[in-house]
Amino acid sequence: MGRKILILLGHPGAGKGTQARLIRHRLQIPQISTGDMLREAIANKTPFGCEAKSKMDAGELVSDAIVNGIVADRIKRPDCNKGFILDGYPRTVSQAETFRTHMNDGDHLSVIEIGADSDRLRKEKRLIGRLMCPGCSEIYNQYSRVPQNDQICDVCGKGLVHRSDDREDLILERFRTYREETYPLVQFYQNLGVYHQVDGMKPIHEVTKEILDIVDQKKKVLMPVANGGK
Ligand code: AMP
Repeated sequence: MGRKILILLGHPGAGKGTQARLIRHRLQIPQISTGDMLREAIANKTPFGCEAKSKMDAGELVSDAIVNGIVADRIKRPDCNKGFILDGYPRTVSQAETFRTHMNDGDHLSVIEIGADSDRLRKEKRLIGRLMCPGCSEIYNQYSRVPQNDQICDVCGKGLVHRSDDREDLILERFRTYREETYPLVQFYQNLGVYHQVDGMKPIHEVTKEILDIVDQKKKVLMPVANGGK
């Protein structure tokens, strides 16, 4: 049986991580967040963590080689046998082309852009107000999605932190990076006939429902491999 693969695209702050974490239980497939994996590598001071840190601190993308490598390793793990949700990957056309080579006949691919308006994201303080659990990566917002106990993760009880890249100056840079490097993926996946969009400015549970409605259509797409499978 083919795998169910869901790619979530969208501006920083659009809700990719929040939605991926909500729907993974319903779909019973893991969330793969390249941002979380890179932050873990930085915390563990691994060699590619050190290389990634300078890019992440500047609001720029980490090299395709590093990110493609960690995703290729991660999707080989047995918990991905039935499928997975990619949150934050691919982020460049080159990453998308590499990912195509990991698709098998019979895989079900849906690509969903969580559409969002960058001015409204800033007004709603989606990033500047974001709090994150360093233990389990659960996501909160100090204005709109507050934890039950002040600054403590509802799920695992660890103290919440602000992400170091959720700073006003870096947010603008990350939006620019998204427009220039990631947005072309919309066209890429439209051309493959697997692109969908939901309105990420709606309340969280409505966005979840829209995503699940799309996934439940079980659009089946056989992805041709760019180099003819060689
Ligand atoms: P995120 O948690 O998805 O917002 O990612 C945080 C940062 O990690 C980004 O600003 C990038 O510097 C880096 N990053 C995450 N995913 C990727 C990716 N697929 N390609 C390159 N850099 C990435």
